[in-house]
Amino acid sequence: MALSYFVCTNCGYWQQRYAAPESCLVCLDVRHVPPENGWEFLTPGEIDGRVESRWEEVEEGIWRFTVEPTLGIGPVGYVIVRPEGNVAFEGADWYSDAALDHIESLGGVRYVAPSHPHAQGALWRLQERFGAEGAVQREDLVWVSTLSVGLPFDDRQELLPGLTLHHVGGHFDGQSMLHHEAAGQLFVGDALKVELEEDGKTAYALSCHKAFVRRIPLTHAEVAGYRKVYEALDFDGVFTTFEQGKNVGRAEVLKLLDYLLQTKPTMEPMPL
Ligand SMILES: [Zn+2]
Ligand SMILES: [Zn+2]
Repeated sequence: MALSYFVCTNCGYWQQRYAAPESCLVCLDVRHVPPENGWEFLTPGEIDGRVESRWEEVEEGIWRFTVEPTLGIGPVGYVIVRPEGNVAFEGADWYSDAALDHIESLGGVRYVAPSHPHAQGALWRLQERFGAEGAVQREDLVWVSTLSVGLPFDDRQELLPGLTLHHVGGHFDGQSMLHHEAAGQLFVGDALKVELEEDGKTAYALSCHKAFVRRIPLTHAEVAGYRKVYEALDFDGVFTTFEQGKNVGRAEVLKLLDYLLQTKPTMEPMPL
C-alpha cells in the first residue's frame, strides 16, 4: 500500500494515509463541526481537477494564493518575497503546478509556517517542490500530518532578518503570528477576525474567538496572552488567515483586547 495525501472538503485539512480516512480530526475538534452528510476526501489529482489556483500581489512583495471555488473554510496562503529568501506563511487548500511555477519565478520558498492547524493547507506541496523547511510551534506539532518540521520553536523564532514568528496561543495552543517589520504588517492567523467594507480590505469591526463556527469566545487569560504579544509589536496593517485589514494597527487591536478584558467573554465584533 502506498502512502498518499487526502484533503477533507469540509475543512481543508490534509492527511497522509494509505486509503481515504474515515474521519477528520480537525472537523471533530471543538473548534469545528463535522459535515452534515458524511465526509468526502479528495486526492491531489481529484482536487486539481476541481479547483483552480489564483494568486495576486496584494502589497509589494506579499502574494496571496487562494483556490476557486473555495474548499472547506478557505484559508489564504501568503508568500512573502524577501532578498534573503521567501517565506510561505499559511497554506492555501491547493497549489496547482502553475501556482508552483509562479512561486518558482518569485525565487521559490525557503520556509513554510502555518499560524495554526486550520491554516496548514497544502503547504506540503511547497516543501515537495522547493525543499522548504517547516516551522511549527511545539504545542501544535500534534496536528501536523503532512508537513516536515525541521524548525520547531518555543516563544519566538526569527526566520529571516525582519521576519519573526511569535507564539500567541489562544485559538490553538500553538498559534503563532508572523511579524514583517519592514512592511509594518502582522500576519495574525486566527488571533483576530476582521469585518470588511465592500472594498475587501478596509475593516469596520474586529473580534476574537476560540471557535468561530461554534461561537466560543476566548477566556480572559487567553485575551491577556494575545495582548502581551500584540503590544510588543509595531504594525499598521494585518493579514488574518482569511482576509487583509489594511487599517488595523496595534492601537486598534489593543483597544479591542482592552475592551474584551473588561467585559464578559464575547465574540461580538467591536466597531472600529
Ligand atoms: Zn475536516
Ligand atoms: Zn482557525
